[in-house]
Amino acid sequence: MGIVVQKYGGSSVADAESIKRVARRIVETKKAGNQVVVVVSAMGDTTDELIDLANQVSPLPPARELDMLLTAGERISMAVLAMAIQNLGHEARSFTGSQAGVITDAEHGRAKIIDVTPGRIQAAIEQDAIAIVAGFQGVSQTTKDITTLGRGGSDTTAVALAVALEADVCEIYSDVDGIFTADPRIEPHARKIPRISYEETLEMAAQGAKILHLRCVEYARRYGMAIHVRSSFSEKKGTWVTSADKVGSADNEGSTMEAAIITGVAHDRSQAKITVVGVPDKPGEAAAIFRAVADAQINIDMIVQNVSAAATSLTDVSFTLPRGEGQTAMTALARLQETVGFDSLQYDDSVGKVSIVGAGMSTSPGISARFFEALSDAGVNIEMISTSEIRVSVVVAETQVEDAVRAAHDAFDLDADEVEAVVYGGTGR
Ligand code: ASP
Ligand code: MG
Repeated sequence: MGIVVQKYGGSSVADAESIKRVARRIVETKKAGNQVVVVVSAMGDTTDELIDLANQVSPLPPARELDMLLTAGERISMAVLAMAIQNLGHEARSFTGSQAGVITDAEHGRAKIIDVTPGRIQAAIEQDAIAIVAGFQGVSQTTKDITTLGRGGSDTTAVALAVALEADVCEIYSDVDGIFTADPRIEPHARKIPRISYEETLEMAAQGAKILHLRCVEYARRYGMAIHVRSSFSEKKGTWVTSADKVGSADNEGSTMEAAIITGVAHDRSQAKITVVGVPDKPGEAAAIFRAVADAQINIDMIVQNVSAAATSLTDVSFTLPRGEGQTAMTALARLQETVGFDSLQYDDSVGKVSIVGAGMSTSPGISARFFEALSDAGVNIEMISTSEIRVSVVVAETQVEDAVRAAHDAFDLDADEVEAVVYGGTGR
């Protein structure tokens, strides 16, 4: 008998029928002899609807109250799911994040888990009940207020509980069959990755692949918790996210995958690009620009600075940042124009980022060349480039993102022989 933590995302519990289907699946897991702890997200698009509601009464909802409101979404799904399970003749008890012992810091809207004390969950499963826990929420150790972990945070709740309960596995259910070599909505020939390392998953997630909450993968890596990403709409095996040394192991399906240098292609349409035009080429200018951006609490991604033109000694500096922060960054930079002495600022939010990720690339030459040739053959212009040891990313025009994804997927022989990716539900909102 083992402890299984299962997390069901919003599209898996979108309506009463879905909740009944998930309840049957949970009961099957219990009947197979496991102790089962379930983490749920809010039903369907509930969280977005609650945010819309808040914005209708206040342009800037107070963070404490917004968290209190948003956690209601998960309370609905946990209680309804517990009812559905009881209706199948099995004992189930729902718990809020706070009751489940999810202790966080006091940062509303992006709280970090600092401790998990799941005494009540432990007691429930020892008494043979199925425990249902509201995802994405906790309680602040200092203020005792209810907090949320940030959008998509239920994944992190699941992994944190799995670690605290010393579970055998953490299963994360969504509306696709696992992690794919590209978004199946763009590349129909995307193939399911049987096993992937924490590091590659982190790069994919950080580069926009909407697979798992970034912090959930960091948490799992830190504690070595295996994650099985799979669909609640099918019985198929999903993708195992584990440590790198287990990825190439004998039980990996599909021998061709072991030889793959590139594990997947990720894309991100959430970024914008700012160019500071005509920056004097002397010490301290880049420092002043990025200090201003940092002081505005903005996380930047890529930076490009060219050599200065010989005639003018002026250079352009471009960087990317989340679109939502564009206005703040432009305002902060405009204040510097006098002191830094640059010519102008340009803002472009019709850009997208496409990345290839793979642990194999650190030992294979020519990966960037192959990527850029594929983009060129597809008529895609590269605006910016950045790399890590296991990733190459480019910024391109937003209208060319899909072409770029397909070109890269094809160039690295990632296409599946037959279409295997099925998107079962969800609005992608
Ligand atoms: N319901 C929250 C959201 O939509 C948390 C989650 O789904 O993980 O972001
Ligand atoms: Mg959701």
